[in-house]
Amino acid sequence: MKRPRPRHLLLAILLLGLLAPQWLRVPVQGASNRDWHPQSFWYEPWGRSGTHKGIDIFARQGTPVLAPSYGIVVFRGELDMGGKVLLMLGPKWRLHYFAHLDSYSARPGQPVLPGAPLGTVGSTGNAQGKPPHLHYSIVTLLPYPWRWDTSTQGWKKMLYLDPTPMLNEVAVDSRKTNQ
Ligand SMILES: [Zn+2]
Repeated sequence: MKRPRPRHLLLAILLLGLLAPQWLRVPVQGASNRDWHPQSFWYEPWGRSGTHKGIDIFARQGTPVLAPSYGIVVFRGELDMGGKVLLMLGPKWRLHYFAHLDSYSARPGQPVLPGAPLGTVGSTGNAQGKPPHLHYSIVTLLPYPWRWDTSTQGWKKMLYLDPTPMLNEVAVDSRKTNQ
């Protein structure tokens, strides 16, 4: 297989930034909006981070983590708190951060389609000893100053976006529709 040339990669990244509108799928196979707490974004106190800048989607260890949108994998590696993490750049200059992974299924530089496997759910980093879950954060590279509020570290809300409203459109609970 030919390696993607840096020029093509750059072009792909530029085009991704312009893609809109954005729709997201829940990045854990088989998960619905019952698998995370809707108020977990900016929950505090939250250990060394102060506030919780994402959501935790609970699933069995080894459950596939899937790309929530089009994107390109820009980083994967081990962090102190996040454990095995993977970063994907998606539409609208937004970074999607996946932490506590058990394993990786994608590598940096790889373009991905929605639903492409990125890794598996685990409990690495500071999730050790806790039930396996995917920590999922969305960070915009273009700050949104109007989102700044008076909550703890409220200025960081210019960068960290709440995934819940973006996921809720597609995260319908199948159990509800059966009632
Ligand atoms: Zn978390």
